[in-house]
Amino acid sequence: MSDNASHYPQLRCVGCGETRPMGLLFDGCPSCGASGKAEPYEVMYDYLRLKREQTLQAWAERDGGVWRFHELLPLPPDAVPITLAEGATPLIRVGLPGPGKIWVKDETRNPTGAFKDRFHAVSLSMARALGCRKVTASTTGNHGTSMAAYSAKGGLRCLVFCDPQAPEVQRRLMQLFGAHVAVMKNRRELLTWLVRERGWYPSTYMSPMPVGTPYGVEGYKTIAYEIFFQLGERMPAHMLVPVAMGDVLYGPWKGFRELERLGAEGALPRMVAVQAAGCDPIVQGFHRRATEVPVHPSPHTIAVSIADDTGGAISLRGLYESDGTALAVTDDDIGQAMRLLAREGICVEPSSAASVAAVAVLQRQHRFGPDDDVVCLLTGAGVKWPDALLAVMEPHEAVDEDIEAVRSWISGFDQT
Ligand SMILES: *Cc1c(COP(=O)(O)O)cnc(C)c1O
Ligand SMILES: [Zn+2]
Repeated sequence: MSDNASHYPQLRCVGCGETRPMGLLFDGCPSCGASGKAEPYEVMYDYLRLKREQTLQAWAERDGGVWRFHELLPLPPDAVPITLAEGATPLIRVGLPGPGKIWVKDETRNPTGAFKDRFHAVSLSMARALGCRKVTASTTGNHGTSMAAYSAKGGLRCLVFCDPQAPEVQRRLMQLFGAHVAVMKNRRELLTWLVRERGWYPSTYMSPMPVGTPYGVEGYKTIAYEIFFQLGERMPAHMLVPVAMGDVLYGPWKGFRELERLGAEGALPRMVAVQAAGCDPIVQGFHRRATEVPVHPSPHTIAVSIADDTGGAISLRGLYESDGTALAVTDDDIGQAMRLLAREGICVEPSSAASVAAVAVLQRQHRFGPDDDVVCLLTGAGVKWPDALLAVMEPHEAVDEDIEAVRSWISGFDQT
């Protein structure tokens, strides 16, 4: 074990707690690996010092997005971040009935329309700071589009392994940003080869292994910091998150715990993992109180961004530690939630709507107090998923050059 406790930030194995200096460590902890299963690293900071230096107060007086919170990000002070002005997204109260005050954290406002921009801002800034010029990841769409955009901005070479289910428009966006795109179902083998044999940087989730980065999830935790300030320096009571690999849940959970270490008061939120009924391995794992996420035999749902057949055990940790829960919603529920958000003027993709679809289920289970702040994470924008929009919207369109035909079409709904 390296003895550098004074050199923060540092990496710590989430399994055995062994620490290391930050670096290009993507295979997980070798000590855990030797005894069977390599656990991922996470980034740790000198919380005592940061609390003493009144970091929370400094943040309260500062604007900005992800980089507003630079004291708790891994990028060395002399490194230049790669940024497209990500973060600082609105927290909006939506017109859903209680119990609970229902808010949405609208991550569709990020540069490429998804919360993944927070991830790649930090992950690729770290890649460049550590001397890597070639980055890769596997994607169902959003992750790759975001990585491609940040690679363009940062002058990095980018290779995306893309699921064939990703919409054509996303594949075009990736290429527009200059990425090479390999479209294939089985992406893991080549990705691992590229990282291990060719030295590419994996801008991919922290777990499950074989390869993952501990740095991207640091970008996600800024979602928690922003919510805390947007609620008037309070924690929400519940945080509902659409989950695939699980960094989306673990990141904000790490963020809420860090706020506590910096001196924030009040109970930590309960984290809720939401998946689609057609692909819910994390929900299955949670209800068995498992420490590993099982593999779903045949994923099938309109919520493609959360349709991974397995997930990271790290998300289960977040659920257990926060005394949270996990549930699955049907594709019909998801479609209804998309329409509901559309009536609020918000266009999300199916995966995002899953968090809102879960509200009614949890209310029926009497999980919310009347005044509980309930935050649903809206992870990604609908515009990048045109087929999904077509599936849930009601058509109200006349395509006709015949003036009289259009006049009578208008009279059909204009009753006054
Ligand atoms: C990637 C993604 C998720 C899931 O994130 P994980 O960190 O893999 O759990 C949820 N929603 C959208 C829109 C996504 O793009
Ligand atoms: Zn370990």
